[in-house]
Amino acid sequence: MNPDSLITTIEGIGNFYQKKLQFLGIKTIKDLLMYFPARYDDFSKITDISDLKINERACIKGEISKISNIRTRGRGMFLTQAVVNDDTGSMKIMWFNQPFLTSTLKDNDLVCLAGKIVSVKGGVYLSNPIYEKISDEKELTHAGRIVPVYRLTTRVSSRWFRFVMKKAMPVLRDIKEPLPKELVRENNLMEITKAIKQMHFPDSWSSLRKAQERFAYQEVFLLELFVLKQRVKRMKENSISIPIKLEKVKKLVESLPFSLTISQKKAVWQILKDMEKTRPMSRLLQGDVGSGKTIVAALAALNAAKNQYQVAFMAPTEILAKQHFETVHNFLKDFNVNIGFLTSKNDKYFSKKLKNQTIEISKAKLLEKTLKGEIDIIIGTHSLIQKKVKFKKLGLVIVDEQHRFGVEQRSRLIKSSAQKGLMPHLLSMTATPIPRTLALTIYGDLDISILDQMPRGPRDVETNVVTASEIKGVYSLIRKEIDKGRQAFVICPRIEKKEIDEDEEISPMKDAWSEVAAVEEEYEKLSKEIFTEFNVAMMHGKLGSKEKERIMKDFKNKKTDILVSTSVIEVGIDIPNATIMIVEGADRFGLAQLHQFRGRIGRSGDKSYFLLFPSAKSKDSIARLESLVKINDGLTLAESDLKFRGPGDFSGVRQWGIPDMAMESLKDIKMIEKTRNAAKAILEKDWRLKTYPLLEKELDRFNQEAHME
Ligand code: ADP
Ligand code: MG
Repeated sequence: MNPDSLITTIEGIGNFYQKKLQFLGIKTIKDLLMYFPARYDDFSKITDISDLKINERACIKGEISKISNIRTRGRGMFLTQAVVNDDTGSMKIMWFNQPFLTSTLKDNDLVCLAGKIVSVKGGVYLSNPIYEKISDEKELTHAGRIVPVYRLTTRVSSRWFRFVMKKAMPVLRDIKEPLPKELVRENNLMEITKAIKQMHFPDSWSSLRKAQERFAYQEVFLLELFVLKQRVKRMKENSISIPIKLEKVKKLVESLPFSLTISQKKAVWQILKDMEKTRPMSRLLQGDVGSGKTIVAALAALNAAKNQYQVAFMAPTEILAKQHFETVHNFLKDFNVNIGFLTSKNDKYFSKKLKNQTIEISKAKLLEKTLKGEIDIIIGTHSLIQKKVKFKKLGLVIVDEQHRFGVEQRSRLIKSSAQKGLMPHLLSMTATPIPRTLALTIYGDLDISILDQMPRGPRDVETNVVTASEIKGVYSLIRKEIDKGRQAFVICPRIEKKEIDEDEEISPMKDAWSEVAAVEEEYEKLSKEIFTEFNVAMMHGKLGSKEKERIMKDFKNKKTDILVSTSVIEVGIDIPNATIMIVEGADRFGLAQLHQFRGRIGRSGDKSYFLLFPSAKSKDSIARLESLVKINDGLTLAESDLKFRGPGDFSGVRQWGIPDMAMESLKDIKMIEKTRNAAKAILEKDWRLKTYPLLEKELDRFNQEAHME
């Protein structure tokens, strides 16, 4: 057995388990060893039976007696009953549906048992404990120690995982340290083989922490390397120089019903200057909601189109893509450009250069026209980077709120363009303010333009945290606003399915709440009981694209008064007439995300109301929400979000697939800067990592994982 051997070389793993593990991305023994526990139970302390307390989890050491199986009448379940005795007393044990236990455990066996003490009508007993027979020769695996608990995704039990991990441990000695030696030394990191062992079978909490720190460091280091390497790679790529058509740009600016803010002008100029170069632009346009990013993008698109280069404009959702399509079409209607619209569904849209005229053509026709270069700007969702979509001369890619659109996706796009070897320019846009530590990492390969002026002046949005008892007042406020001709949003949270924990008592499976269920319930209530006089509509991600489009259109055209929705309306949606928004279960959202929601209202400049209903009454969660009342600046909120909830809430961060333990380090600016400098130093010496083959291999793995979506 060596790290690269297939897992089937481990005794006890046959085809059956091989398939299950493959599902988790585990093929080799090394993969297995790198599959870390989701959490740990501390069963290192042995409790005397006389000290056991009801409803607590404990680990007992004692002798088994009276073990037997019975079958319950009603539900036909197997129960295994036994008693465990130590010097201080005895305790009943009950296992559910594990009839084979009676052949593993026999009376008089000395065992370690870990589980919860429960009290029911039948008496007090230890429920469904983890068990392990004690023998002198071997170290305990399942109890009597800090016990690893693995994520339950394919019905492979933690017990089984512990069993095979133990068997794989000898392979550790063949695993080599991928991190440069000097980094391990300078940062006082736990060396890899020891760290893997401690991740699975920790000797103590402190050595577990050291092991986690080491892998956290490794992940952040790889992330920095990855991002910096992308930048170096980009600097070596060639792109098309797209000259600035100043008179066209000016004409568009003059045709607008408003004048551009200084920061918009600056951003446009930076973008046009970048596109003139033969190096591919990689620019991030960052600006709070309503800062006017779309017109900046439209100007860049026009400039490319007027140089006979095509533009691909991608949005994260269909709703937004459609909105961009309408907006850009409207901006450019007098400029003789063809704009197409494409999503993965069977939409047939094609906008013609003639004023406001939209012609429906088939998707095949649209693709054909794109290939021939007859479409100047194609707007859509992720479907734009499918193989089927081919361009004649792709010059510019614009992506809205898709942080992970990097070199890889771009190279896929170059392959789709007939201009071999030339990387299109990239303009990425985001409204998500992001703390500096994160910006340094996840945007590390981009140049940044910031729109820090709000064109329509500061919005007048009053934020309040409200309690259930104030609901009547809130409803009458909604009535008042709608009577004035205004519209309202009601946002419902995503409620995550709780993972089922194997060690917990078997409970009747509760119908897990889903996001859709929450929205439907609220919709029923509001439309049928509360606001019967108004038109209420419902929106969620599971609806068909035509349906979504119709709902948004109706809302935009004021056919509906109240829109009950999931977080799908979070980014970009522009409904200037909406002046009130309620967020249910507000504590389930990050502050930055709530700030995004807030950006959906008051867009006309009129006084608006943002009302937060927390579902948890904890002081902390209310204090966190209160900070939205005081703070109106997205970046300050983002910093505070990072402190309270960690980086996982920032859109874009999750997609990197960074393990939770490394997420923690993303809060630490000093650590980030240090790691980044270390990565830089290595790349300066050797950007292809030829002298660090193991590191390169790790980076490859990171690369693949980061791109799995
Ligand atoms: P976001 O940055 O959130 O994408 P949008 O591009 O959707 O913002 O712009 C919000 C609204 O502001 C749009 O209706 C847009 O036409 C308008 N807008 C953009 N720039 C200006 C400006 N300089 N002055 C006034 N209104 C503007
Ligand atoms: Mg936008």
